[in-house]
Amino acid sequence: MKISAFLSCSAIFLATFASAVMPDDPNKIDTCKMPGVVAYTIDDGPGIYNDELLAIMAKKNVKATFYVLGRKVDENAAQAAALKKILDGGHQLASHTYSHDNMDLMTDVQMKDEINKTSDTIFKHSGVRPAYMRAPEGRCAELCTKTMAEMGQIISHWNIDTNDWRFTGEKDPLVATKKSMEEIMDVLYNKSDPATDSFILLQHEIHEFSVRHLANEVIDTVIKKGYRFVTMEECIGEPAYLPGSTVPSTVPVPPTGTTIAPTSGGPVAPTDAPGPVPTVSQPNGGATVSGGPKPTISTPPKGDVDSSAGAMKVASWALGFSALLGYALI
Ligand SMILES: [Zn+2]
Repeated sequence: MKISAFLSCSAIFLATFASAVMPDDPNKIDTCKMPGVVAYTIDDGPGIYNDELLAIMAKKNVKATFYVLGRKVDENAAQAAALKKILDGGHQLASHTYSHDNMDLMTDVQMKDEINKTSDTIFKHSGVRPAYMRAPEGRCAELCTKTMAEMGQIISHWNIDTNDWRFTGEKDPLVATKKSMEEIMDVLYNKSDPATDSFILLQHEIHEFSVRHLANEVIDTVIKKGYRFVTMEECIGEPAYLPGSTVPSTVPVPPTGTTIAPTSGGPVAPTDAPGPVPTVSQPNGGATVSGGPKPTISTPPKGDVDSSAGAMKVASWALGFSALLGYALI
């Protein structure tokens, strides 16, 4: 069964289940750690409209987080190539598992296999191993939550939804777009306050109208309301990638004495952001992710990084690079 069909078939259960589990489980992230921001999260890709979506985001200077499926990356060379394009655009890569199967019907060993296989294929094509995951349909009960925490995975829920998968049957893409904007207009635009609120916003990239019509509406509305788009890395303040990831090729090699752009490409978390995430266990996630070529540059251990993760990475890399260069000149 196609993934899109599978999603549609179980859509109602998803909505009910996700909303039921989100508030009660502290390990499931559904809001950012600072007000005034929106993490735009894009699921189920890479899809055939990925290039178009990246172009829209580039034009509007929006950074997003793409939760990709390992199986899609493995099945199609064009989709595999999308991973580098996503990083080149300054966006964040994250895991949506390998198969898009229900995690709550798996053993812990099967869950680990889903994450490890996806991590390996993403690493193969991009050089990074995601630290953020989203369970298919939001289904991640106790065993899943425990297993993901053991693997250093930050379980990414959401607190506002386009529900775009519900409207793929609409003949008119503008009608589908309007319906997909209902929750955003009602909650984000009409009732929220950027001074106090933040959102993790869910959309998919596999539906034509979602990319060609909805994306523009979402972006324009969020900006008009006064929110700033961030990656999940900035939203949560934890590194985007596990130790062992190589620095994406888009990070420029700096001249001596300059700084390096953060991994996600977005601005670093403000220093006045709330403190470390208290609810997410952060063991050395790299230890449970197997396979793949040896990395050349490691990210800092997750336990050492708080909401100033981006700034700390910049500082440490700059110091390391300067020290290395200085040593070479001696
Ligand atoms: Zn999905």
